[in-house]
Amino acid sequence: MPKRIETLVLHDSTTPVIGDIEKGGSVVLTTVETLINQARANSLWPLTFGLACCAIEMMSTVASRFDLSRFGSEAFRATPRQADVMIIAGRVSKKMAPVLRQIYDQMPEPKWVISMGACASSGGVYNNYAIVQGADQVVPVDVYVPGCPPSPDALMFGVLKLQEKIKRQKAKTLADLRLVDLKPQARAEA
Ligand code: SF4
Repeated sequence: MPKRIETLVLHDSTTPVIGDIEKGGSVVLTTVETLINQARANSLWPLTFGLACCAIEMMSTVASRFDLSRFGSEAFRATPRQADVMIIAGRVSKKMAPVLRQIYDQMPEPKWVISMGACASSGGVYNNYAIVQGADQVVPVDVYVPGCPPSPDALMFGVLKLQEKIKRQKAKTLADLRLVDLKPQARAEA
């Protein structure tokens, strides 16, 4: 299907330029694609998925001192069906890996993953038979946050990097915009 992106008039020229939104004459011009990317990037809802000590730092990011809500991501959800970003905070044991994958599969599209800390990203100091040597062996990871543990600031930087990545996404077809769930049947069976 050929790419078809509509041009929309947003509002007047006094509005600041956001991202790659183009300013033209007395109006601000953008595309549906850019609007969708902006909306998605600035309203990430993380899944509550703490696995070890890194989770304490993850919790701190939504507390008053760091306040992740400044970037629209303070709504941590307790169910994968209401979340679109999984923050893997802590080591992934081999026993937990299938659970991690199932929860990831239950998240609706589009979805993203942040691997928080050395353990989640590479196994960290736990180079043994019980720990998965990198969460990317189980789910696709979009952003890796280094550290042991990463500070709340580092996780927030990771969220900002994910926002940049989402804003850069380009749709080649209408399906790439992922406005509708193309496989509702498959999800119901999950
Ligand atoms: S990276 Fe460090 S703080 Fe995070 S889970 Fe591993 S040992 Fe704990």
